[in-house]
Amino acid sequence: MKAATLIRDIPDFPQPGIMFKDITPVLADPVAFAEVIAALSEDIKRLRPDVIVGIESRGFLFGAPVAHELGVGFVPFRKAGKLPYKTVTQEYALEYGTATVEAHVDAIKPGQRVVIVDDVLATGGTAVAAGQLVEKLGGATVGFAFFIELAFLAGRSKLVGRDITTLLSY
Ligand code: 5GP
Repeated sequence: MKAATLIRDIPDFPQPGIMFKDITPVLADPVAFAEVIAALSEDIKRLRPDVIVGIESRGFLFGAPVAHELGVGFVPFRKAGKLPYKTVTQEYALEYGTATVEAHVDAIKPGQRVVIVDDVLATGGTAVAAGQLVEKLGGATVGFAFFIELAFLAGRSKLVGRDITTLLSY
C-alpha cells in the first residue's frame, strides 16, 4: 500500500534508543490516508461493532474516520484529566511509572460490541488497558485494529485470544 512508503523512521524519539514510526506523512497524503481508512474499515466490518473506541491521540485520527465509514459511533479514550463529565479510569504500567486511560462513565452502553483502534501496537500495554476499560464500562471488546504493528515488541502476546487487525508489520 502507498501508505507504507510514507511512514518515516525517526531515531531517538521520544527517548534515546527508540525508533519512532512517524505516521503524519500518511495523514497528509489523501490517497494513502483514504486507503488506510478503507482497509481498516473493510476488515473491522465483519466484527459488527456498535462502537469504535480511539485511543488518545493518534487513535482518534484513525478511529473516528473508521467509525464514520462504518456508520457507527465513536468514543474517545483519553489521558487522565481531559474529559469533562464523570469518568471511569484504568491504570497501566509503563517502563517507568504508570499511565491512565479514561472514558466517560456513559460512553459505552452495556453489551455494546466495541472495536479499539490505535495507530501503533507496540508493547500492547495501552491496548490491554483500553480493553479493560471497555469491560469496566460494560461493553464487549470484539477486536483491536492498528495501522502498524511493531512485531519485535510482541504486543500481540498480551492480546492472546483477541481478534487483531494490523495493516503493516515491522
Ligand atoms: P504500547 O502501549 O503498545 O507500548 O504503545 C502503544 C502506544 O504508544 C500507542 O498509543 C501509540 O500511539 C504509541 N506508540 C508507540 N510507539 C510508537 C511509534 O513508533 N510510532 C507511533 N506513531 N506511535 C507509537
